[in-house]
Amino acid sequence: MTKSQQLFERAQKTIPGGVNSPVRAFRSVGGTPLFMESAKGAYMYDADGKRYIDYINSWGPMILGHAYEPVVTAIREKALQSTSFGAPTELEIEMAELIVSMAPNVDMVRMVSSGTEACMSALRLARGYTGRNKFIKFEGCYHGHADAFLVKAGSGVATFNIQTIPGVTAGVSLDTLTAPYNDLEAVKTLVAQNPGEIAAIFVEPVAGNMGCIIPEPGFLEGLRAICDKEGIVLVFDEVMTGFRLAPGGAQQRLGLNADLVTYGKVIGGGMPVGAFGGRREIMQHIAPLGNVYQAGTLSGNPIAMIAGYTMLKTLKDNPGIYKELDDKTALLHTGLEGALSKGDVPFVINRLGSMISVHFSDKPVRNFASAAAANNAYFNKFFHSLLDQGVYLPPSAFETWFISTAISNADIEETTGAVTKFLQASK
Ligand SMILES: *Cc1c(COP(=O)(O)O)cnc(C)c1O
Repeated sequence: MTKSQQLFERAQKTIPGGVNSPVRAFRSVGGTPLFMESAKGAYMYDADGKRYIDYINSWGPMILGHAYEPVVTAIREKALQSTSFGAPTELEIEMAELIVSMAPNVDMVRMVSSGTEACMSALRLARGYTGRNKFIKFEGCYHGHADAFLVKAGSGVATFNIQTIPGVTAGVSLDTLTAPYNDLEAVKTLVAQNPGEIAAIFVEPVAGNMGCIIPEPGFLEGLRAICDKEGIVLVFDEVMTGFRLAPGGAQQRLGLNADLVTYGKVIGGGMPVGAFGGRREIMQHIAPLGNVYQAGTLSGNPIAMIAGYTMLKTLKDNPGIYKELDDKTALLHTGLEGALSKGDVPFVINRLGSMISVHFSDKPVRNFASAAAANNAYFNKFFHSLLDQGVYLPPSAFETWFISTAISNADIEETTGAVTKFLQASK
């Protein structure tokens, strides 16, 4: 038995399913999740000491690689001044100013401790601001695990094919309207069927929770136009794309404006951080300025803030990082394409910036239905072969891969070499 297998057996006795977040459990791909011990740069090392090239990067945050020295040093120094005050600090102002300087259309920002909190707070704010109850989300998009969002959600909900969630009341779900991603007509129909009732449209501007799905030309622009016409709050969930696709996230990369934006993942440099922000006119409805209540004992926590601040400042001061990430991901794309095209199974690679994924499909993958129709049993074989060869991919076809600057061209070559070996072995 490997150490990971021993740890997994032990974990299951006191932790439901042995994990603290479902997708980590490897249930859809089968096998035992690897228990990690340490990581540096592009590599993670498991409890048995085996090395993996990491394409998950903590599901996004480790954009500069693991144990990035300036972040680690900043955390260490900050901890000596207390790990929490529960009172405001100058560092929180610096963090807010830095975010506002990087993100378009963000006049004000409120810090929280996760992407889930950011999205549920943004939804409450959009409802409080508009005085409307319903909102639209897209099938296969994931906006955290708050009740209202667990309707046709992506990520683990899609991976485990959970249709209705025990514990989420029908009353809550009735206010959640869903449309297929990239389907503007479906959105128009929902808006026409619910006149004056829709508070917000939530969208992942580049979807990453059903694999990577790219917005088609006109889709996000169309949502913007509908929101302007109907007085609906357009919320970009940039928990994955924020500070990853550009210093100003998808808004900057795609040249689009949202009314509210949610952040997570990269914003915390690996610490539990989320944020939501937007136009002053909307944000001033948040307590204590307005009556839309939102709070958090550890919100703006000094250790979390210094980690996030150090990460974001590095990204802001070194915009060349984004070109480097794009180039590396393009190299991976070309390598994967070259290797996979020698096999017999049709595949689709979707990529934007440093988000990329492979679906084994003979049709374009542009929404949840086409992602779900792909040969995901084959993905599972692909996943396990690469894992055996020391390449750590997300354990589900319903997840994007994340590239970090620490991944070298040699790592990418090793990865595509592993894909070639997989194809040879499966002949
Ligand atoms: C990860 C994710 C969330 C949830 O963030 P947590 O920090 O896991 O709560 C929300 N939206 C998107 C787009 C995400 O990828």
